[in-house]
Amino acid sequence: MQRNAIKVFIGFEGVALHDSCTASWVPLMLPHVVIVGGGFGGLAAVRALRKAPVRVTLIDKRNYHLFRPMLYQVATGLLSADEISGPLRSIFSHQENVDVVLDEVTGINSGRRIIHLTRGELPYDFLILATGIQYNYFGHDEWRHFAPGLESLDDADLVRGRILRAFERAEEMASIEHASTEEIRRQLTFALVGAGTVGVEMASTLAEMSRMALTHDFRHIDPKSARILLYEAGPRILPTYPEHLSIKAQHHLESLGVEIYTMPASRVFLLSERLPGQDSYSTTFREEIKAPRQ
Ligand SMILES: Cc1cc2nc3c(=O)[nH]c(=O)nc-3n(C[C@H](O)[C@H](O)[C@H](O)COP(=O)(O)OP(=O)(O)OC[C@H]3O[C@@H](n4cnc5c(N)ncnc54)[C@H](O)[C@@H]3O)c2cc1C
Repeated sequence: MQRNAIKVFIGFEGVALHDSCTASWVPLMLPHVVIVGGGFGGLAAVRALRKAPVRVTLIDKRNYHLFRPMLYQVATGLLSADEISGPLRSIFSHQENVDVVLDEVTGINSGRRIIHLTRGELPYDFLILATGIQYNYFGHDEWRHFAPGLESLDDADLVRGRILRAFERAEEMASIEHASTEEIRRQLTFALVGAGTVGVEMASTLAEMSRMALTHDFRHIDPKSARILLYEAGPRILPTYPEHLSIKAQHHLESLGVEIYTMPASRVFLLSERLPGQDSYSTTFREEIKAPRQ
């Protein structure tokens, strides 16, 4: 790709200079557009500039684009990582005015028009920041320790591992330790805080996983008995959507056995330490979660 770019750009500008940071050959006479982030926003920006007389550098700390809306499916084992990601270099292999750089942007000096990377710095004429969002724990940053956000494939792996380990642990408790039904029930209780799109999708996928995908895989527990609790501080789930869609989604979730708790109610989310001998998310909420069911 870079060789083709040299030919094209030499023909266009008659000059190709080495950019010390990107290690690619680009004509410095063209305006340099730096785009940080190869998510939806970054991809759209790069594509929009495909015919523009500019040289584009796309920087991402990952070398792949991640289709985040499907991340929860990886977190529940229904899709594999490669089904929701693609290498940025391949995506833009036919767009000759773009150079892909794998690095993390650590700072910006807008006065000097320079961005700082972990391995150097890069000048720009125009800068597009498309670095996405960060999770908001609503003032409870201590929750991050128990419930990581779902931002990356690593997060999805972590969540999937913990969900599956909760079932494994319950099986072990039932078969070897002869634990009580109540203890096993607690081990298989999954609490989701926030019933926006991700919370609703995650609850629904968890329910499908326990009610369908795992049903025949265990001998001593019934995965269908897993409790899935969905908490929402607003008056209804999907609070930003039209009410009829919230009601429809609620009916669907309830048909899958998801228990839904919404406000108005007492503030219910009390996250405690793990219970002794248990290591899954399902046990990180104490029993005092008692929001009235709406
Ligand atoms: C589980 C889940 C489900 C969703 N479902 C939907 C849905 O159904 N419909 C919908 O419209 N939206 C959905 N969304 C939201 C949607 O995914 C986001 O709105 C969208 O991904 C935002 O795109 P973006 O380009 O702004 O950021 P992102 O897609 O997050 O991309 C940001 C990129 O910037 C890179 N980056 C960040 N910081 C740096 C740095 N310092 N240096 C270099 N690179 C950096 C990251 O590696 C990443 O590649 C969902 C999100 C999640 C998590």
